[in-house]
Amino acid sequence: MRCPLCDSTRKSQVIDSRPSDGGRSIRRRRVCAACNGRFTTYEYVETPKQLIVVKRDDSRAPYDRKKVITGLEKACYKRPVSAEQIVELAEDMEEELFKQYDREVEAIAIAEAVAERLRLLDQVAYVRYASVYKQFRDLDDLIDEVRHMKQNTDDPDGPGQGRLF
Ligand SMILES: [Zn+2]
Repeated sequence: MRCPLCDSTRKSQVIDSRPSDGGRSIRRRRVCAACNGRFTTYEYVETPKQLIVVKRDDSRAPYDRKKVITGLEKACYKRPVSAEQIVELAEDMEEELFKQYDREVEAIAIAEAVAERLRLLDQVAYVRYASVYKQFRDLDDLIDEVRHMKQNTDDPDGPGQGRLF
């Protein structure tokens, strides 16, 4: 780093360092070892993209993969879905999400992106998952969903009404 005062390339000493520009850069006060002059540098940091999740009640929280995994683990309890498949599903969902959204994403959009993938993996886990995130929105939707699935599957282990409601 070249001193803007004396043009020396000798090392400068950092005397103060603080985040600026909303955390997107670090502002450093430096003292030149050659001329003792003080100058400021801004270093832009490559931060991983952070999405904010907007919940039903309009509250906001940073996206947390752990919450997605926990929800999936509950839905996949005693189902033939491995922990590895759950992590892969979450990663795949995140990739799409982070491409599609810039700053904020509604919780329901995450749930739907997860459900869409879970459906291909295990139908019982899918219905369990869907029953959690859809129940407060529209119960009729879920009933239709289950009816539709029952018509389309001969799986004797398929979800029964008693287990769901
Ligand atoms: Zn200097």
